[in-house]
Amino acid sequence: MNTSPTSLQALHAPQAATSAQASVRPHVLVVDDDAGGRRLTRATLNRAGFAVSEAGDGRAALEAMRAGIPDLVLLDVSMPVMDGFTACAELRRLPGGERVPVVMMTGLDDTASIERAFEAGATDFITKPINWAVLPHRVRYMMRASAAIDELQQNQKRLSNAQRIGEMGDWEWDLRDNRVSSSEQAWRIFGHAELPRAARPEDFFAAVHAEDAQRLRHAFAGATARGEGFAFDHRMQLADGGVRHVHQQVEVAERGAEGQALRLAGVVHDITRRKDAEEQIRRLAYYDPLTGLPNRLLFVEQLERALAQAARHARRLSIMFVDLDNFKRVNDTLGHRAGDELLRKASARLAGALRAHDALARGAEASVLPEQNIARLGGDEFIVMLTDVHAVEHVAGVAQRLVQTLAEPITVQGTEVFVGGSVGVATYPEDGTDIDTLLMNADTAMYRAKALGRGGFQLYDRSMNALALDRLHMETRLRRALERDEFVLHYQPRVDVVSGRIVGAEALIRWQHPERGLLPPAEFIPLVEDAGLVIPIGEWAIQTVCRQSAAWAAAGLNPVPIAVNLASTHLRERGLPARVAQALAAHGVPASCLEIEVTESILLADPELSISIAQELAAMGVMLSIDDFGTGYSSMSYLKKLPIAALKIDRSFVRDLETDPDDAAIVSAIVALAHSLKLKVVAEGVETPAQLSFLQSVRCDQYQGFLTSRAVSVPEFERLLHRRAQIESLFGAHGARQPLSVA
Ligand code: C2E
Ligand code: CA
Ligand code: CA
Repeated sequence: MNTSPTSLQALHAPQAATSAQASVRPHVLVVDDDAGGRRLTRATLNRAGFAVSEAGDGRAALEAMRAGIPDLVLLDVSMPVMDGFTACAELRRLPGGERVPVVMMTGLDDTASIERAFEAGATDFITKPINWAVLPHRVRYMMRASAAIDELQQNQKRLSNAQRIGEMGDWEWDLRDNRVSSSEQAWRIFGHAELPRAARPEDFFAAVHAEDAQRLRHAFAGATARGEGFAFDHRMQLADGGVRHVHQQVEVAERGAEGQALRLAGVVHDITRRKDAEEQIRRLAYYDPLTGLPNRLLFVEQLERALAQAARHARRLSIMFVDLDNFKRVNDTLGHRAGDELLRKASARLAGALRAHDALARGAEASVLPEQNIARLGGDEFIVMLTDVHAVEHVAGVAQRLVQTLAEPITVQGTEVFVGGSVGVATYPEDGTDIDTLLMNADTAMYRAKALGRGGFQLYDRSMNALALDRLHMETRLRRALERDEFVLHYQPRVDVVSGRIVGAEALIRWQHPERGLLPPAEFIPLVEDAGLVIPIGEWAIQTVCRQSAAWAAAGLNPVPIAVNLASTHLRERGLPARVAQALAAHGVPASCLEIEVTESILLADPELSISIAQELAAMGVMLSIDDFGTGYSSMSYLKKLPIAALKIDRSFVRDLETDPDDAAIVSAIVALAHSLKLKVVAEGVETPAQLSFLQSVRCDQYQGFLTSRAVSVPEFERLLHRRAQIESLFGAHGARQPLSVA
């Protein structure tokens, strides 16, 4: 054994100028027990520009290899200690050893050795005696070939990686010997577990989904006959029961003389993930994520098909609009989470009721029953489609069932709530022949059901159209009414329970309708919100009251505070305090002239905002009263934060005071509660002296009601104020002990 390549170079390769150059010289390890042969080999290779190291037997060779892997090994077959075959097999097992080209030196015509050499992992062989002139060329060639193989392997690895990452693979089908060979990844995509990666086509394509196999066969047959490529999506049935979606792109790689295909080349792409994503997107697009029911989009598509079918077979089809009655209340009071739970449960109820109805009726008279389908349109609206409707009674029966199932209490976050629902039905072809008309008419019928007291169903009839049109008409009219100054305020005095003196008034809106006369608020206030007039009408009322107070003051009438009714949404209007201040300033009246009445529902949405606006108003001197107290949901903790002047006990409690002990108890409890919070109490709707005396007995502060006066027009109210002035001048500041009577 000699020394390292560097010292070798110094001794035997004087033409090499620097060690930097030396380090790039290809390195050959010569293993031979014949020292003479070694020296000759080294000299030859050095001259040809190779760096050479030597080993005298197999074991020494392995040791040298462990120190550094050479670029090529020249290995003698017969050596002491460890022969060439063993050494070759061993060095292949070393890290990096598997890729070194190993050239074995065998005796001439020693075919047995040659065979053994290849078995042991040799790359090539040369025969002894060595042809010295050819040796460097052989070595150089072997190195180049091995580098090329190396690169090829690297490329294959890279390709295979790319295919794995891209979830794609390639295959080739040679039609002449009818074999398919494929990349590892294609092999796996086609559902094969382990190698080999070549097979008969029927085996290679064995896992193609049974339902797609026929079409795929056709595509292949066509491609071979015409010599044309094709693209194809199909499924693979996997051994574990799963399904894989693939996209195949097939080309003709080689053609025969007549253009027929001889070899097909295919690229297969696993598109399962894309398909899954598409399915996910489809679900998102077509289904309501909350309830899992079809959404409007899908429903309309289904309805289109069903309508076309109904038309073709001259059959009836009904559409039902289902609207939950108290959803908004639950959602506002118990929160969105509860609202969601309610929607889920209600939809399950509806679907369950439909199924039950279906099973029940089908058992009885199988052929006359409608098929049905349910979807959620958004919010608390559901829609049901019944196809193949033979008799109206069936539809009514289904509608009735839906109403009933919603009438039962639903437990939401541990609380039982009564949600209820109203149903409207429109039927093809009687109530419309196109989707829009049917949906609109079912909606109209549903509104009718609600108007008739909720918790019921209505079949559409033509007269409803007039009602719906009426409603639309009213909204337009309402908008114009404001511009044309058709609204007026009437005033109802608020009276001190003990003294009977007028201590304030409430402004109540009326509509002087050009055709229908003076309309009470019940006929148009419910439409104000839909018409987008909540704020304009509220601001109009504030302006009007300020102007009126100024006029009364100017007439020397010593005006009382006037309360304006505002919709609760108005109290979430940031600009409200500024507008109120502006109105007061514009008419030169003090803030104490104006009060605001809102119902408890202001606390349902964004109570913090309402509270801060109310506080701004209070800071200006404009106080708040809670209207219709006792009918809504009051959160005492919020109520305490509101700057409230008074609670107004709802008329419904006052009405039956004399007959209903519960109402009497409620009224006295409200009075006690209000007083404990340092609030005044105003009773509404007082019509009889007996009611008044009860209120006096429980120390209620003030009241309004027909007993004193209805809400009256401005001139009439002025007369009331005049009388008050007269009485005060007669009886002094404490006023009359008797209630005023209606003039
Ligand atoms: P509300 O604020 O509770 O007004 C009291 C209602 O009870 C008034 O009906 C009044 O005329 C009536 N009333 C007063 N005393 C008695 C009585 O002794 N017996 C009976 N049976 N009824 C009595 P009106 O004027 O029809 O107003 C109805 C509702 O319309 C009001 O209820 C209020 O919620 C709303 N409203 C009235 N004016 C306005 C307004 O300017 N803006 C808004 N947003 N709503 C208003
Ligand atoms: Ca009121
Ligand atoms: Ca009220």
